[in-house]
Amino acid sequence: MGRSRVQVTYWLENAWLGTHTAPAILLTVADDRIAEVRTGVDHPPAGATALRGLTLPGLANAHSHAFHRALRGVAQIGARPGTAPGGGAGSGSGVTGARSAPTSFWSWRDVMYDVAGALDPDSYFALARAVYAEMALAGITCVGEFHYLHHQPDGTPYANPNAMGEALIAAAGEAGIRITLLDTAYLHGGFTRTGYRPLEGVQRRFGDGTADRWYDRWSRLKGEGHAKVGAAVHSVRAFSDRDGYRLFAERTADVPVHIHLSEQTAENQACTLLHGRTPARLLADNGFWRPNTTAVHATHLTAGDIALLGTGGGTVCMCPTTERDLADGIGPAPQLRRAGCRMSLGSDSHAVIDLFEEARAVEMNERLQARTRGHWTAAQLLRAATDDGHASLGWPDAGRLEPGALADFTTIALDTVRTAGPPPRLAGEAAVFAATAADVRHTVVGGRHVVRDGRHQLVQDVPGSLAAAIGALRH
Ligand SMILES: [Zn+2]
Repeated sequence: MGRSRVQVTYWLENAWLGTHTAPAILLTVADDRIAEVRTGVDHPPAGATALRGLTLPGLANAHSHAFHRALRGVAQIGARPGTAPGGGAGSGSGVTGARSAPTSFWSWRDVMYDVAGALDPDSYFALARAVYAEMALAGITCVGEFHYLHHQPDGTPYANPNAMGEALIAAAGEAGIRITLLDTAYLHGGFTRTGYRPLEGVQRRFGDGTADRWYDRWSRLKGEGHAKVGAAVHSVRAFSDRDGYRLFAERTADVPVHIHLSEQTAENQACTLLHGRTPARLLADNGFWRPNTTAVHATHLTAGDIALLGTGGGTVCMCPTTERDLADGIGPAPQLRRAGCRMSLGSDSHAVIDLFEEARAVEMNERLQARTRGHWTAAQLLRAATDDGHASLGWPDAGRLEPGALADFTTIALDTVRTAGPPPRLAGEAAVFAATAADVRHTVVGGRHVVRDGRHQLVQDVPGSLAAAIGALRH
């Protein structure tokens, strides 16, 4: 008693309550958490902010590389050569515009490395702030940033060795969303049947040299109100069994741990030649799969791999718009669910930033592949986009509209050309199978109204900020 709490009430015309849509909800927020959820309140009471449309728990974008946003539109087949931002600025690979449009993941990666070479803490802050503001406009309230751009282009640490990671945390704060910084160990430049290659070119700025030195730097990162610190191993290409998966897992047992897994068949083939095992098996044999682990992509798995991931009890993060953009393939999402994995969703390379598109793509990809319907319900897909996504980022108290949960939610309009028509009780289905990020009207994070009537309240001109930050990398 006596402690003053900031109380705000929101009246929700319709709300997604985890399994179904309910009308006429009064949501009371005290400080940054939901205090009460009352149903059957037919009209907005005086003083309440009315959110018309369908309010969903905040969306969790569980896999992001913020700098990839600079590649949107410029790394497509037919894109004019020489328009890659930062072309030739940092990779030292002689790419200044003579490169043809990338036709595979690996040639796309070369273009991506050009951008990676051009960033410093200030320019990365400006870019990430704009990208995270775009996410808020898309209803995303929490991002998992898989971060490996640690050092200066030649690999020398900055005076503050965590300057880049701290820039990302600050950028999310300015954009009004939560972040889990998945600080990534990236020690090798790939592998072949004979062993691991050293980091080369732009990759040098990804590496700390050894797992111990990664751990020293990582240990100095601090979370704050809107930010948590998690960990990642880039992939089995970038971290070897000799670097110590088991020790890594023990050191990071209390935080979310993510890893790219089997996005490419070439990774599986090289791993089998060198280690005699698939990446999933190599990691299982080294004690890596735990309930706090998330395997990102998990596209090319054997039946044995699927069983191992299910036994580990962790999460699989699907990034369908990136996986199709990069011609990766379609991961076995229903099989992983049946094996016991939870699913989260990520926009990864930000070909688009639209969690509704990610969610429906999981089902639509499966329909095209299986030529049957009904692999995922809207409720299952929304759970991946909200509750399970947040859990995989270390925010188990977000992603639900219930008392005690963090007051993170987003509202989509039900009167746009895409969403008008269905009865309100099917608004959840309409959201997953027809809505886009452009239908988002409100985003509230920790009780703070970050997007109001489709306008970001903290970043005045989000498209202008994106254009400026990306344009600056071309010079
Ligand atoms: Zn990724």
